[in-house]
Amino acid sequence: MKIAELVRPGAIEFRDVEEPRPGPGELVIRVHATLTCGTDLKTFDRGHPRLPMPLALGHETSGTIAAVGEGVTRFREGDDVACVPTAPCGGCRLCRRGRESLCAQAVGRFMMGAFAEYVRVPAHIVRDNVFLRPRHLAAHEAAALEPLSCVVHGSRRIHLENAETVVIIGDGAIALLFAQVARLQSPGRILLAGKHDTRLDVAKRLGFGSVVNTSHAGLQDTVREWTGGQGADIVVECVGRPDVWEAAASVAGPGGEVLMFGGCASNTQATFDTSRIHYDEIDIKGAFHYGRADVRDAWALLRDRHVDVGPLITHALPLSNLLDAFELARSRAAIKVAVAP
Ligand SMILES: [Zn+2]
Ligand SMILES: [Zn+2]
Repeated sequence: MKIAELVRPGAIEFRDVEEPRPGPGELVIRVHATLTCGTDLKTFDRGHPRLPMPLALGHETSGTIAAVGEGVTRFREGDDVACVPTAPCGGCRLCRRGRESLCAQAVGRFMMGAFAEYVRVPAHIVRDNVFLRPRHLAAHEAAALEPLSCVVHGSRRIHLENAETVVIIGDGAIALLFAQVARLQSPGRILLAGKHDTRLDVAKRLGFGSVVNTSHAGLQDTVREWTGGQGADIVVECVGRPDVWEAAASVAGPGGEVLMFGGCASNTQATFDTSRIHYDEIDIKGAFHYGRADVRDAWALLRDRHVDVGPLITHALPLSNLLDAFELARSRAAIKVAVAP
């Protein structure tokens, strides 16, 4: 089969390799669709500090089970499934404290290589994080389970249920997913603040009325006006730049919560006005990855169509055009690209 490998930053090579075979407890999936993701793009551009090259990319995937490993009873050959690329151990100190997203196994044993015809799903993922895909959910939509799991996890870190004003900063897939989850959980108003009109149009198509391009109108002024001078109850940063982190904190109102969802480049710093954190009791939190309950809830949102990922997957390309898929995503012309072998 063909597999796409990153041989050095910016260079992908297609290699012929043997089709994977499942070990005990494992599955092999014939890939229908794998989505591009910000992590792939960053890795493509600069490599990954923890993952040596040549590196097979692709981790947001869904397909049909081609082979079932010894001891797997929940799945059969021919089942349509979706999965996320990690699972926590469930037993370490962090897992026991309910912090599965921080489990060393979750991030340390990442399933990659789904930009390929077949991908092998390790046993620890098969055990908890593989789901049968119903007919009404398209394969490329089911492949969005991973980013939605991250978003569900992030939503658990804040109190959307009593927020009257929620500001989402960003217009990528994460921002558009977060806005949809916030709409389900919060009785309040939601403002989406991005920089790309084509992406903000998708937000409008998803039914969001308050959508603003902050390259024209500044973020501070926009939020001040939109909240009647109060500042926002909740601010979610979905960009991942220190200057945007700082801007996010600055537009929260007294008692506000700020969720830093976008990861910044390593070794960067952001500064915050101490008086806002002290006198205004602004809570600043991060969110990273997901636990098993997040994945289960995300799957239910997808399956029951409470969250619509279809409009976020703006392009589809064959695997042989993977470079074009990355280019589309990088140029912001695409939000997510579904890559099919
Ligand atoms: Zn991803
Ligand atoms: Zn653990």
